[in-house]
Amino acid sequence: MMPAASPVFHSRIGRALLSIVVPVFNEEDAVAPFIAHLQPHIPADQVDYEIIFVNDGSRDGTLGALRGLLTLHPQIRIIDLTRNFGKEAAMSAGLDTARGDAVIVIDVDLQEPPELIAPMIARWREGFDVVYGQRVSRASDGFLKRHTAGGFYKLFNRLSPSKIPEDVGDFRLMDRRVVEALKLLPERVRFMKGLFAWVGFKSVAIEFERQPRHAGTTKFNYWRLWNFALDGITSFSTVPLRIWTYFGLAIAALSFLYGAFIVLRTLFLGIDMPGYASLSAAVLFLGGVQLIGLGVIGEYLGRVYMEVKRRPVYLAAAVYEAPPDEHEAP
Ligand code: UDP
Ligand code: MG
Repeated sequence: MMPAASPVFHSRIGRALLSIVVPVFNEEDAVAPFIAHLQPHIPADQVDYEIIFVNDGSRDGTLGALRGLLTLHPQIRIIDLTRNFGKEAAMSAGLDTARGDAVIVIDVDLQEPPELIAPMIARWREGFDVVYGQRVSRASDGFLKRHTAGGFYKLFNRLSPSKIPEDVGDFRLMDRRVVEALKLLPERVRFMKGLFAWVGFKSVAIEFERQPRHAGTTKFNYWRLWNFALDGITSFSTVPLRIWTYFGLAIAALSFLYGAFIVLRTLFLGIDMPGYASLSAAVLFLGGVQLIGLGVIGEYLGRVYMEVKRRPVYLAAAVYEAPPDEHEAP
């Protein structure tokens, strides 16, 4: 039951249009089983739907497979990007194109169960703007992935004012208003987990067991994950830039005290044997620290440079959809 004081959203009472956004990159073996598994789980008695595949520059037969499916399922739309722009950009392309009152983002590899779609819609109809999937365990990930991911979430949430819930991926339902809010954010580096958190709105989690990939392989190696983590932290926190002031102050204060100590010691005890080992250690250490500081500034400067160029987040080469006469009007 909806509490009496809740705002009323008409799209959530009557028949709604649901958009399902699916980014795909080299997934020729995964798309057909995905559709077969997905369709029975869409509550077609409650919603009309469109399935938006964003082909993120696949180099295998993914586009052919998708176009084959389009002839069977007129609800499909395919946005074919001109090259691989990355999952974040592909999701943005899907959200820009989606027309639904509610939009669900889901991976094509069935790691995120379509069984959750109906419960997500139910929560949305109760008045939640965001219903996100939260994994109960990371058993399907390896030891290293589990620990690096956990460490990243902790670090991110310490540094960033907008917190991201742990073990939550991109799999979620969003109300139209949330999608419109995301579209207002102009940045090129689209760290979606952070943007989802930044826009806020009334959110609720649904727990699920993350499945092993049913076809194909993961597209994220550790180098890509590391860069993804850098994107996330630099997009949402300036702490790494600001700590150098405090670090410098601490070192300057300690150096001053140490200098005073040496002067006094020389006055009272005379000149000691000169030791250049400690001297070179201190110089090299400080040189290293300064280079790290410069590197951090460079990291942010590079990102500022990329942002000010204002290049588009993605480019679409073509959009494929069923001809209007075959397509059931939503
Ligand atoms: N994906 C994408 N572009 C990329 C990398 C991945 O569109 O550059 C898609 C991929 O096809 C899949 C989803 O993003 O639908 C999640 O990718 P994956 O399963 O490889 O990630 P993991 O589950 O291993 O984190
Ligand atoms: Mg996956």
